[in-house]
Amino acid sequence: MSYTGPEFDPPQQRRSRRAPLTVGLAALVPGALLGWAVYEAVGGPGGSGSGQANAATPRSASLTPTDDAKVPTPSAVPSGLSLKGKVVVIDPGHNPGNFQHPSEINQKVNIGTNWKECDTTGTSTNAGYSEARFTLDVAHRLRVLLEKQGATVKLTHDGDQPAWGPCVNRRAEIGNAAHADAAISIHADGAPEGDRGFHVILPASVHSGAADTRPILASSRTLGERVESDFAKVTGSAPSNYVGNGTGLDVRKDLGGLNLSTVPKVFIECGNMRDSKDAALLTSGSWRQKAAQGISEGIVSFLRG
Ligand code: ZN
Repeated sequence: MSYTGPEFDPPQQRRSRRAPLTVGLAALVPGALLGWAVYEAVGGPGGSGSGQANAATPRSASLTPTDDAKVPTPSAVPSGLSLKGKVVVIDPGHNPGNFQHPSEINQKVNIGTNWKECDTTGTSTNAGYSEARFTLDVAHRLRVLLEKQGATVKLTHDGDQPAWGPCVNRRAEIGNAAHADAAISIHADGAPEGDRGFHVILPASVHSGAADTRPILASSRTLGERVESDFAKVTGSAPSNYVGNGTGLDVRKDLGGLNLSTVPKVFIECGNMRDSKDAALLTSGSWRQKAAQGISEGIVSFLRG
């Protein structure tokens, strides 16, 4: 309806850094709330508007790290709460370069149950903000938040190397090879106008070919439930009104990234890029920061048990 596009995001007032307050909060605010408190204390993404402004730039210029949130450097996490030693693999869905590599991404890979395209271009808002750029930006924000908690974070790609993909089987392999304690693939959906909200996708029980999700079913469900709950709480978004019967959870057996995972893994569809109201959220840098915060809190909750 009143979609205004990313470049019209109201600028955030940059407040002065208040390091002493931040340190004080570190001592007072337990657990997963810490990251959000620090973010709030220093004025959110810093008003640089970097993520928003880039949405209007040519694709060739869109792969710079400026999509990253200007999230402050970490404050100390109380040692008992640190995620030191925990590994999280973040999989930014698709790749901004996929549009230029149709033959590569259309090659078929085996996902256990069947053969499927290596990767897809993903969707975009009606104004052209691509899902691939959205997923990378949220991944960058999420990485900062998780590293702040002490976790080791690995991305399956960073939009440049490789210039396309990686293929969905490779995305799963990266999480497996890292022995990730949690893995998450970030997406946004491309459903009709009026379809709104987010949902988390859990692996179905699959035992076929190279796919055997049975050992990760329970842990992935727990991870997904934590992410669903915290994403709703932090963003204020409602669970999908078109998938999952209002639970915010879906179960699928057709996703290679889940079928081939040997570590706890979920997907999240953060909203519907083709719905004008959801698009207004997805194109907002401050909303993407909340999305990353919600995902982070869910993962942190899962990792702390
Ligand atoms: Zn996607």
